[in-house]
Amino acid sequence: MLEKSKVYKAVISDYTSEGQGIARVEGCVVFIPNAIVGEVCNVRIEKAAKTWAAGKIVEILEKSPHRINRACPVAKLCGGCAFHHMDYEEESRMKAERVRACLNRIGGENLEQLPILAAPTCEGYRNKAQYPVSAKKGKAYAGFFRQGTHDVIENQRCMILPEESDAVKDIVTDYVNQFRVMPYDEINHKGLLRHIYVRRGAVSGQVLVCLVLNGRRIPKPEVLVERLKKVPGFTTLVISVNTKAGNSVLGEEFITLYGPGYIEDTLCGLKFRLSPRSFYQVNHYQAQKLYAAAIERSQITKSDTVLDLYCGVGTITLAMAKAAGKVIGVEVIPQAVEDARDNAVRNGIENAEFFCGDAGQAALELEKQGIAVDVVVVDPPRKGLNGDSIEAIARFAPRRLVYVSCDPATLARDVALLKERGYKLADALAVDLFPRCAHVESVIVLTKS
Ligand code: SAH
Repeated sequence: MLEKSKVYKAVISDYTSEGQGIARVEGCVVFIPNAIVGEVCNVRIEKAAKTWAAGKIVEILEKSPHRINRACPVAKLCGGCAFHHMDYEEESRMKAERVRACLNRIGGENLEQLPILAAPTCEGYRNKAQYPVSAKKGKAYAGFFRQGTHDVIENQRCMILPEESDAVKDIVTDYVNQFRVMPYDEINHKGLLRHIYVRRGAVSGQVLVCLVLNGRRIPKPEVLVERLKKVPGFTTLVISVNTKAGNSVLGEEFITLYGPGYIEDTLCGLKFRLSPRSFYQVNHYQAQKLYAAAIERSQITKSDTVLDLYCGVGTITLAMAKAAGKVIGVEVIPQAVEDARDNAVRNGIENAEFFCGDAGQAALELEKQGIAVDVVVVDPPRKGLNGDSIEAIARFAPRRLVYVSCDPATLARDVALLKERGYKLADALAVDLFPRCAHVESVIVLTKS
């Protein structure tokens, strides 16, 4: 066991899934933030358990050539980005390596390398922002949570967001201070404004502003609307009522104060309607690359029926519709299903059908009805597929299964389970949708073995 507060010499050999450096010191695994593989550092132990410890760099003895100066002034404090200290070459290498390591270790594969579609830019790419609001000496401010806490770190200009997002944040913060709207305090569950949510269509430029309230009303909404009109593309102002304690950002009820309550954007040549709750990839450019990779790898033909589980507003489903005979999407959020159906109509797509429900249960139901499926696409949330989804896929026995994943560990677990059901891995690709942040997407193909 290492000694707390003592300084040890550490060689960084790997990264955790959150992007922290890992070193082995005297048989102990030490987790070290802001460290780069290959670096030799003096590390002060802050927390020590029997087999692991957490430490902080006090001195870098051998610096990685990938280390860069942080351009963001709050990068060290803000929990938004994990990688301001390393260049993008190292970041994308590490992300590809993480997907490869998971598929090998958990998925039982033996991949020697795995390609990654790296992002062309690390700046201004995020089309959605959720700023928590807090107060200091009676003055409201907005920013992002400090890593692992709910302390709000004020951020003047976030480098991964478009300017319009920060402009909205500043206008709302000024308005809140002028009209004495109380920021929400989660400890005593008092105050009104919880989050400022901004979504911007990368192609349309339309901006949706959603104020998440512990209540239903704001003072002088017309004044706020007039000010927001100065933001290029401002289209709609919505209130999300969230009076529940807890970590969910958006509530269930939405009240539109100005405009249609949604925005539109174009993705893969199709028009999409986006409500605050609909899932829409935050990196538009890379999402198109991801979907193109998924479509290409699906090898669908005009006679195929494609089942898209966890379809959101129907992005992948509709992008595949042209090449397929029929596409069926399944999604659990009713509003997203409504959006998906509406998106099919607005794009003149007639061979798409959407069902609302749990992906696994709905798929089992469709299978019972005798529907035959040639290709299955899944794009589940981080926890991956549930037992019903795996069972349904096995029963449908599609020719190809395209799995889009935002968590390599659960992806690899599901690959192992699907291999037991007679599938084999045919192709794997990582796609970086979140430069500077620890998450990585991947798209893999499984075929019947
Ligand atoms: N393929 C879409 C959405 C992917 S995100 C896109 O790329 O835009 C994952 C989606 O799964 C979300 O829309 C979420 O609401 C949905 N979801 C989560 N759990 C689900 C479940 N049990 N059954 C069906 N859909 C689910």
